[in-house]
Amino acid sequence: MTTEQAAAWGATGDHSPLMNNYGSPPRLFVRGAGAELWDDGGNRHLDFLCGLAVTSLGHADPAVTEAVANQAAKLSHTSNLFANEHQAPVAEKISELIDSGPGQVLFQNSGAEANEAAIKLARKYQGRGRHVVVSAMRSFHGRTLAALAATGQPEKHEPFQPMPEGFRHVAWNDLGELERALSPEVGAILLEPVQGEGGVNPADADYLRGVRTICDERGILLMLDEVQTGFGRTGEWFGFQHAGIVPDVVALAKGIANGMPVGAIWARDDVAAAFVPGDHGSTYAGQALALAAARATIARYEELDAPALVRDREAVLRARLAELDGVDHVRGQGLLLGIELTDDARAGRTGPEIARECLDRGLILNGITPTALRVAPPFIVSDDEIDEAVGIIAAVLDSPTNSNEETA
Ligand SMILES: *Cc1c(COP(=O)(O)O)cnc(C)c1O
Repeated sequence: MTTEQAAAWGATGDHSPLMNNYGSPPRLFVRGAGAELWDDGGNRHLDFLCGLAVTSLGHADPAVTEAVANQAAKLSHTSNLFANEHQAPVAEKISELIDSGPGQVLFQNSGAEANEAAIKLARKYQGRGRHVVVSAMRSFHGRTLAALAATGQPEKHEPFQPMPEGFRHVAWNDLGELERALSPEVGAILLEPVQGEGGVNPADADYLRGVRTICDERGILLMLDEVQTGFGRTGEWFGFQHAGIVPDVVALAKGIANGMPVGAIWARDDVAAAFVPGDHGSTYAGQALALAAARATIARYEELDAPALVRDREAVLRARLAELDGVDHVRGQGLLLGIELTDDARAGRTGPEIARECLDRGLILNGITPTALRVAPPFIVSDDEIDEAVGIIAAVLDSPTNSNEETA
């Protein structure tokens, strides 16, 4: 290609082989262990984000590493034309932990795919004319088209209009508004027990109980997106368990396999039965390699009693954050917390800018709103690591002008 051609194509001298979809990532990590990550310059970082609430056991967990290595050496993939030794045990374990009566599991590869499968299952179960899915404003359900249509963030829809039809959004935690949105075409309600990407906004327990009652009265499916909240992250095995309700469908991913790409849906038996051979499918989903990781991960969660461990770590983290100047309030559940900062402490900086300053001091978290940070550390985080992380946040909040210049 000539330079002129390249210019016409928008390419420059330092043309990247990667699409610009994720901007310019600020670090390249090459190694991890527990709550620590090292970049390509050998610099240590504390990981209080876990690859977006994924690596809950910490990086390079020995049991998961061994399971993946052994499985890779034995058999990785055969497609869903055949079964493998991990599918039934992992599905059984998921049903046991969801603990909501008899149900069945269908494996996926990601959170968005889990929600896609849930939406298709609801349509198949409810039939034509009852295809509408109601979800909440500021929700996040993934980036594929139907999951995006369910996502209650209109600005994310805009570049990709028109969205698939059959989606409706209502204000979060507002039972009255939800009821007003329920026409006869509504077949399912899809909610996160704690909105993660939307700002770490927990559902009120009364709200979830109210939604359950409405769904029962009208034959609407209650589908919970537990992609971020599942597998102990909130201090219960699943977020809905804080409210003492049972769901009809649950979407899972993130924490399910400590970093291997695995997703799944669980549905109560009669709903699950709506899918028959030919309705849905995925070449990779449920493959032996990915499920070996899921199996080892969930076994390790059980050994550690993940929900109890998370509640214990949450108490330490909240106590340290309570001593921090410049925090308006901390919200969330378990090890999925939003730290709302005071205007004074932010000193003109946004949440993402403060997160960037934390990164420059070796702490990974993210700015989840213009005024708040999100932390989601691994369950095995130590007291010392919590002290160190909160110390870094304190240092960043204490020195606004200084670090502002560094990151400008
Ligand atoms: C991350 C997330 C998704 C999307 O998961 P992907 O694996 O990125 O497709 C869906 N729902 C919730 C609640 C999430 O946090």
